[in-house]
Amino acid sequence: MAQTQLQSAREGIVTPAIERVAERENRDPEFVREQVAAGEAVIPTNHAHEGLDPMIIGREFSTKVNANIGNSETTSDRIEELRKLHAAVHYGADTVMDLSTGDELDTIREANVEHSPVPIGTVPIYEAVKRAESPEEITHELLLDVIEKQAEQGVDYMTIHAGVLMEHLPLTDGRVTGIVSRGGSILAQWMEENAMQNPLYTEFETICEIFAEHDVTFSLGDGLRPGSLADASDEAQFAELDTLGELTRTAWDHGVQVMVEGPGHVPMDQIRGNVERQQEVCDGAPFYVLGPLVTDVAPGYDHITSAIGATEAARAGAAMLCYVTPKEHLGLPDAEDVREGLAAYRIAAHAGDVANGLPGARDWDDALSRARYDFDWREQFDLALDPDRARDSHDQTLPGDNYKEARFCSMCGIEFCSMRIDQDARDADGEMDALDTGVDLDASPAAAVNLPPVGTHDTSAIPELPEIDAVAHDEGEPADD
Ligand code: SF4
Repeated sequence: MAQTQLQSAREGIVTPAIERVAERENRDPEFVREQVAAGEAVIPTNHAHEGLDPMIIGREFSTKVNANIGNSETTSDRIEELRKLHAAVHYGADTVMDLSTGDELDTIREANVEHSPVPIGTVPIYEAVKRAESPEEITHELLLDVIEKQAEQGVDYMTIHAGVLMEHLPLTDGRVTGIVSRGGSILAQWMEENAMQNPLYTEFETICEIFAEHDVTFSLGDGLRPGSLADASDEAQFAELDTLGELTRTAWDHGVQVMVEGPGHVPMDQIRGNVERQQEVCDGAPFYVLGPLVTDVAPGYDHITSAIGATEAARAGAAMLCYVTPKEHLGLPDAEDVREGLAAYRIAAHAGDVANGLPGARDWDDALSRARYDFDWREQFDLALDPDRARDSHDQTLPGDNYKEARFCSMCGIEFCSMRIDQDARDADGEMDALDTGVDLDASPAAAVNLPPVGTHDTSAIPELPEIDAVAHDEGEPADD
């Protein structure tokens, strides 16, 4: 039986996948091997996934981004799903999860694995529900059958919600948003109806044996993650996390790679604590977080609310970020939502890497900044995180080829382009004349404008504005009436 990446790394073997990852991350292969051997990084590589370009997920490496695709009962087929896969990889997804719950599950999954150069993840409980027709009808045999079949099909990692236990369920009473994980809610219903322990927990060692045979990586699901700020960091969430720590060690005993999923909705000030707690409880296993959203008040903009939290999570040590699109909580994302979500999350991941001083991370920023200051517009577009978006935005107002050489854009215009003015003010060596240090800047009245803002965000104090009609009337213009 072929070994898992973890088993090989423990034996001191630098596998071809480790070699490739080292090349992609510009790191020493021996360092990569040590990280995998310690369980602090994973290389999801199912033996049967032939077209895969191996990648690594771990806090010592560049922060990765996952995109979710998948059909529902009413939308999408194999071709449409392949289009979504292509769009996700094109816009920079490091892994893709197929969360299909509609028809043609097998065909779609097989096509995704066959055509994907990035690891494919799944949540097998979804297929089990489809086959059983209702959650409470799922049997242990059916669950294991689904998991084994998906492993044989080449799925690289699977979300297994084995940490949701019967004794955790009462801890969710009184929550504002209950259990919001699809997998968590399905398993909770199963346990309530059957009065038995979570089958993914009781069958965990059998699942480990299946995963070891195919080198499927665990993504231990957070079925009790908070779905609102009010429920963040509560007893239910941390009780499940303790179980996930126990399961991490069990999987390692079987030579199986593990990452652990995390919340969800978490206030900004609790994010670092959440990441550090996971790292401690799960002995450094990579943390894979969904967002987290740092406020609940912005449906329609949750790619932004969650990318803010994702940046903080990456800074604190999260290894992979699961993107959130603007449609979160509202509807099934379309291709444009996928693009917006991925852009937001690639920004979050990169910002985290820069802040953490990841070797080479800021080279990208510096190269783009130089191109910007040089007015090398084409280079600036090429280096942009989304080159098409950057080019289109520029060309909306200055489309002509001659403007690709211009020392200004339409934002400030030719006269007020500060970078042009700055360059013109410098001497041949690119230097400014020295400031007269005898001037007391603090004494200048102009310094007052730099004082911090005062006041609160209590909008009751804001005076009411007059109606537009009244303004027009006051100014001597005839009102409509
Ligand atoms: S016009 Fe303004 S925004 Fe445009 S390049 Fe110059 S400084 Fe930058």
